[in-house]
Amino acid sequence: MKFQLLPSSFEENGQASPRQHLACFVIDDVVSIDAGSLAMSTTSVQKKQIRDVILTHAHLDHIAGLPLFIDDLFATIRRPIQVFATQEIIDILERDIFNWSIYPRFSELENTNGKVMQYRAYNPGEEFTVQHLHIKALEVNHKVPCFGMVISDEKTKIAFTGDTAVMDDFWRNLNTEKNLSAVLVECAFPNELEELAQISYHLTPKILKNELEKFDGDCPIYVVNIKPMYYEQIIKEIDELQIENLQILEVGKVYEW
Ligand SMILES: [Zn+2]
Repeated sequence: MKFQLLPSSFEENGQASPRQHLACFVIDDVVSIDAGSLAMSTTSVQKKQIRDVILTHAHLDHIAGLPLFIDDLFATIRRPIQVFATQEIIDILERDIFNWSIYPRFSELENTNGKVMQYRAYNPGEEFTVQHLHIKALEVNHKVPCFGMVISDEKTKIAFTGDTAVMDDFWRNLNTEKNLSAVLVECAFPNELEELAQISYHLTPKILKNELEKFDGDCPIYVVNIKPMYYEQIIKEIDELQIENLQILEVGKVYEW
């Protein structure tokens, strides 16, 4: 399984920045999990191939690129963009984003080939299939309805927390999954902003350490969703945890699991 966190921004020299402003993870160049930078940072091959987008939740940093992606590709879309989300998240998108005021309601529009966008509702806890991937969405503990994912193909299985504060059920569920190749966890704020992390339902390195004690597996664990403003501080605090299999997921790098 090829897995890539797309860049969100660029340095002065044009190289991708390691800072993550937006969340968009591309699997095997054909499926994306969240769509923060989907329009801006996909390669031309990815733009041609990605027609399935799975959403963890409706926060802007996770969906910002979705309306623009559909807009950019509008005339060329042959197979409609399938947006996988819970019905509750779909209702939020239709009410607050694709509402003709913020952006067109693409689910009602067609090009010469037919529909350009379709919603596919998933139910938490029930496995569903997207292309060659089997996905199980597990509710996590965020300010809005948000879902972590267990994602597998024929060979590889990975898990992903999405945005979350402390949680128990997710880890309990994950402990029943065998042969995980990687787990991605969020860690948005540094330790000194623990209060802000709690109000906004995110983790700090200190809280992350506690969370990881609930996980029985020994696969590599990758940290994502580090607030760009606190990037250096959070990296240092994660380093100081001295957890051997814990590392930062590199923005732009293609991982093979
Ligand atoms: Zn969020």
